Amino acid sequence: MDQQKKPFHHALRINKELCIGCSRCMRVCPTEALRVIDGKATLHPEWCIDCGECFKVCPVKAILVEDDDIARIFQFKHRLLLIPSIFFAQFEEKLTLDAIKGILYDMGFTELCTVEQGADILVDEINRYVEEFKGEKPVLSSYCPAVVRLIQVSFPSFADQIMRLIPPLEITAQYYRREYEKNGVPLEDVGIFYVTPCAAKIAAIKAPVGGYVSPINGVINMSELYNKVFLAYKQKGTSENEHCTLIHSSLSSVGIHWPTTGGEAVNIKGRALAIDSMPNVIDFLERLENEEIKGVDFLELRGCDMSCCGGILVQDNRFLIKERIEKLAEELPKKHMLDQEFRNVCSGYIPMEPVEPRAMIKYHPDITIALQRMEEASRLRGLLPDIDCGACGAPTCEALAEDIVCNRATMEHCVIRHAYQADAEMIEKIWGKKRFRE
Ligand code: SF4
Ligand code: SF4
Repeated sequence: MDQQKKPFHHALRINKELCIGCSRCMRVCPTEALRVIDGKATLHPEWCIDCGECFKVCPVKAILVEDDDIARIFQFKHRLLLIPSIFFAQFEEKLTLDAIKGILYDMGFTELCTVEQGADILVDEINRYVEEFKGEKPVLSSYCPAVVRLIQVSFPSFADQIMRLIPPLEITAQYYRREYEKNGVPLEDVGIFYVTPCAAKIAAIKAPVGGYVSPINGVINMSELYNKVFLAYKQKGTSENEHCTLIHSSLSSVGIHWPTTGGEAVNIKGRALAIDSMPNVIDFLERLENEEIKGVDFLELRGCDMSCCGGILVQDNRFLIKERIEKLAEELPKKHMLDQEFRNVCSGYIPMEPVEPRAMIKYHPDITIALQRMEEASRLRGLLPDIDCGACGAPTCEALAEDIVCNRATMEHCVIRHAYQADAEMIEKIWGKKRFRE
């Protein structure tokens, strides 16, 4: 099935029972993928990019993350947990790395390894890629899956500029899968699990882009695992588990910085910029589209504020996490100890295929019908009050006009027009004569 037709996998779900229809989520959604219908938030699956902005603002926790049950690990004899440095950096210093590792072993994981081991070998690969890139620059990082989806749906003309190299997480997962295989372990006995700081990574693992198939068997919610580890520590103290070592714990200072803002860009030769948080990323891409920004070789784009430190499933304060990462980095070697071995094993599978654009079809797939609808929507916009109040269940008056021409709403949805018809005098009072006349 081609990527254009394959539905997006979504890691976020709206619990309609809990939703109170407050429309907070709708107002922050960067792709206008939400509407409030019959008093409940409703998601457009082709437009949602799993960025989690809606999750952050819901006052009643009606937006849920669909992760894998941790009990799934027991389906496998070998249970490898891939741990991002962000996970360790959430704990205060008194809960040492050894203590965390011990608790994770006690929970049933048989091997642990750090995710960002895969970052070191990417540095040279990205630099080579950027240098040899024949298309329009900047090359856009493929690290943040929410941004990759944003580009697919909202900036499809940039899809060709997305770097065709898999992220560190997948490099590390591929490496260890091959290690098990090399050591004669049947692959059906191996369960590879990842602790995720966000929903977008769940969606990306379940439905990767670039013709790639992830070897990761399950994704565990970082917030839940954090609470479990913390509770175990509070109840039992540090674990005496004798096997509590990280396998190949050769994380470098390059690797540990990778999930933080600038962690990728700082390693790139040429002019490389790091942009974080969804509004900034969108603003930057719009400027790039309008050719206001030129001469950039590489763009690191991360959907969350302070990159993965600000992921929606991260429990601790993002500034404190960043501070702890800096501290941990001081004790790490500059380079990955397994670099050459890693390079030899991984070099073949780092490239991926192009990421397909999936431009939002707002009006109709047929261009003639789409143009007619667009024209009609523009006429309707002139009849709407242009105040983007959201009371109609659409995020803006423009979005309501689009919904009306696509038969998803009617003019009756505009409560201001209703009120206007009911009490023009009152509206004039609120808006003032000038605006009212206009
Ligand atoms: S996850 Fe992001 S794109 Fe999807 S509905 Fe929520 S805010 Fe919109
Ligand atoms: S933020 Fe969205 S999902 Fe949450 S209660 Fe309000 S409308 Fe419902």
